[in-house]
Amino acid sequence: MKLRKVNVNTASPGQARARILVIYTGGTFGMSYDRDGVLVPFDFEYILTQLPTLKNLALDITAYSFIEPIDSSNINIEHWQLIAGLIHEHYNDQEGFVVLHGTDTMAYTASALSFMLEGLGKPVVITGAQLPISDPRSDAREHMITALEIASDQSNGVPIVQEVCIYFDYELLRGNRSKKVESMQFDAFDSGNYPALAKAGVKIDYNYPLIRKNLNSETLVLRKTFDTNVAILKLFPGISRQVVHSILTVPGIRAIVIETYGAGNAPTSEWLLSELREAIDRGVLLLNVSQCPGGRVLPGRYETSRLLQQIGVVSGADMTTEAAVTKLMLLIGEYGVEKTRTMIGNELAGELAL
Ligand code: ASP
Repeated sequence: MKLRKVNVNTASPGQARARILVIYTGGTFGMSYDRDGVLVPFDFEYILTQLPTLKNLALDITAYSFIEPIDSSNINIEHWQLIAGLIHEHYNDQEGFVVLHGTDTMAYTASALSFMLEGLGKPVVITGAQLPISDPRSDAREHMITALEIASDQSNGVPIVQEVCIYFDYELLRGNRSKKVESMQFDAFDSGNYPALAKAGVKIDYNYPLIRKNLNSETLVLRKTFDTNVAILKLFPGISRQVVHSILTVPGIRAIVIETYGAGNAPTSEWLLSELREAIDRGVLLLNVSQCPGGRVLPGRYETSRLLQQIGVVSGADMTTEAAVTKLMLLIGEYGVEKTRTMIGNELAGELAL
């Protein structure tokens, strides 16, 4: 994957307020309409020409942009390793980080980065847009300017935000709690199980007690080994044994996120329980996550979840599917499936409440 590096000191010849690393991956944010009216990714220099107000921020910006910007539907593990690697490499010489990314898979990237950057004590703000920056009604300009502002905000020399977040439509959300919930309106993201970390109005109003504090911000450990032998099994009334069986017996499969109903409930049919039991006996880690965007898995509240608990399905508490699947891939890659079994229910980066 090729990168282009650009330095823009918007404070020059004056003194910059902060050094910010921007990583531009693509997405609608920087796209432009081609001759046939189709949206295609554009390069970072083009974005800069669309943002003359950048000069007022007095920031020293180093930008790495993908030479071939991508639609985020094409994001993969190598891109996450590249993004996290750049943040790790520049951790000590930058005050904050902004990642420009398509909205479609932004919540997955935010979750993955939050687990990869262990001990993060600086802001990593991911943002994108619903309309390209070239569009007069675009949300891209405000997102970029506010994301840069948040990435550089400090209180008594300490970064206010010390975690991976998504900034979108005037709200700062915890990255690994977020979900894309809207593809046409501007309020594309929500974090049903965690309130916004900040609201951007006339000023940026931080909800300080909710923001993660990193007490060990000296060292940033990069975790980057993923095991992709993971699947998602979404339940629906009428799901057939064949479908369940084929997912549970995929060759090499190590873990499966089961998207259950409500507070973690599943049908009590004997065939389903025996398929799940057999998978667990084969060493497959089964993780129970709810289809509801708000609330949590409460094992044993209903008979329909008690049976899952009894056979050894692990509770995913109030994790999003995006957080669950990225956490599983990374933990299994780094520590193996047995250790993951005990680690998966622990809070690592604010992704769940016990
Ligand atoms: N398909 C685009 C992407 O995720 C959508 C967006 O950026 O809003 O890259």
